[in-house]
Amino acid sequence: MFLSVFDVFKIGIGPSSSHTMGPMTAAGRFLDLLRRHPFRDAAAAVSARLHGSLAFTGKGHATDRAVTLGLLGWAPAELDPDEAERQLAALGTTHQLRPDGLPLLAFDPAVDIVFDYGPPLPGHANGLVFCARDAAGAELLSETYYSIGGGFVVTAQEREAPPAATAAASWPYPFANAAAMLRMARESGLSIAQMKRANENHLQAPDEVERGLSRLWSVMNGCIERGLSQEGELPGGLRVRRRAARIHRQLAAERQSNRAQPHAASDWLGVYAMAVNEENAAGGRVVTSPTNGAAGVVPAVLRYYLDHCIGAEPDRIADFLLTAAAIGGLIKHNASISGAEAGCQGEVGSAAAMAAAGLCAVLGGTPEQVENAAEIALEHHLGMTCDPVAGLVQVPCIERNGIGAIKAVAAASLALRGDGSHFMPLDNCIEAMRQTGEAMNARFKETSLGGLAVNLPEC
Ligand code: SF4
Repeated sequence: MFLSVFDVFKIGIGPSSSHTMGPMTAAGRFLDLLRRHPFRDAAAAVSARLHGSLAFTGKGHATDRAVTLGLLGWAPAELDPDEAERQLAALGTTHQLRPDGLPLLAFDPAVDIVFDYGPPLPGHANGLVFCARDAAGAELLSETYYSIGGGFVVTAQEREAPPAATAAASWPYPFANAAAMLRMARESGLSIAQMKRANENHLQAPDEVERGLSRLWSVMNGCIERGLSQEGELPGGLRVRRRAARIHRQLAAERQSNRAQPHAASDWLGVYAMAVNEENAAGGRVVTSPTNGAAGVVPAVLRYYLDHCIGAEPDRIADFLLTAAAIGGLIKHNASISGAEAGCQGEVGSAAAMAAAGLCAVLGGTPEQVENAAEIALEHHLGMTCDPVAGLVQVPCIERNGIGAIKAVAAASLALRGDGSHFMPLDNCIEAMRQTGEAMNARFKETSLGGLAVNLPEC
């Protein structure tokens, strides 16, 4: 099993990795499939059907817009928001797509994207089916995709037989669980970040890996900065106001005048995370960490390390991200990082475990302490449901990232006060999360049919 740091952390756009980035990527993959089809020149129209959680919360997550952008040829990492808006407006008039290497395709998003509120597809809660037809309306090609969290997309066939699993033995440190990770660290004398880096260098040249890591942090930090400078209401109709900029001004003033309470450290963590998640809710550029809904936790804790921790060194940023990615990879491989599959324990819980591990590592933790930090953070998110109000990634998601970041720092600090030995191994905690997610009622798995989403205050 190997999940690159650049798969765990992907540059994209908000508000959701599974409901926005995944469907956009799936649409692009379907066009590629159509380009390879022997009768591609006969294609005249394309349509999409959204199932399960993509149908129930797709409007709030702008899934229909994401599918349309994917069919217009955009990939999440390359989206130019202004040009995309222009193309969406043009499509609203022409109802025609002009994909490279294919004929003109009729496509009216209002008609050709169907929200199917029936039972979800069997492979995953987030399913979508694309179909291309000829001029007579006969089906030429159809493919089913599952958006399995963190922007990852698989076809129904790939879901049955994951293609990468066979290659595990070729990586220098092919750890598929935390026990193997710790054993390899002991045997090699390397840190988790060093082993992860060796695995990455197996795929890409070392300088490319370092450049990529540096770019990831630059986008994460840019997102924090933008979020701290924006005011006003978030889109979607809930009338949720951005708070990060105002809180940040208050914190800066208190620090300036030496009036800050000791617990203001929590507020700094919270405001960095909320800045990211407000940007995400507004459809801005974010890095999935490991998902969009949970995108604030890792950047917040890394920024906290750089700006607030004694002895912080900017050249440890890469080690932070590599360690966090190692933990995220273990959780994704052995359980899930998808809110639609495991609830919010899979999103913010995973993000907190990753951030705790990264912080523990750069503060000098041993691999055993790092594993302990990740376990503490994940353990205290177990059972957390996903119940976004109105299907928007705003309430409870924005604040929840702030609290997740605070828990991550507490977990790292607690682990650093021990010697790494502890009762509950990370692997067992990940399995507990998987079982809890499996048993969780579908109302609490990104359908907005339960919890906070159905207990709204009277306006
Ligand atoms: S409640 Fe958690 S899992 Fe659900 S959308 Fe919000 S951040 Fe994601």
